[in-house]
Amino acid sequence: MTPARIVAALLRTEPVPDSGAHCVRCKRWTYAPIPVGYIERVSGPGFTQYACPSHATAMISRPTPGELEPDA
Ligand SMILES: [Zn+2]
Repeated sequence: MTPARIVAALLRTEPVPDSGAHCVRCKRWTYAPIPVGYIERVSGPGFTQYACPSHATAMISRPTPGELEPDA
């Protein structure tokens, strides 16, 4: 999300963008989802779990995928 869209969303001068995810902890919709987990399933592709910023800090206890890889 660009800064202009954030300002526009805060000022509600345009429709709320259709992006974001439900927080896995509080179940509320967040426009700044942070990946906190990945659930693998036997019958199909897995899915990423997201949390809102206020809950993500308490839920991330280990590096996320790609976080420890050195920048090329
Ligand atoms: Zn939450």
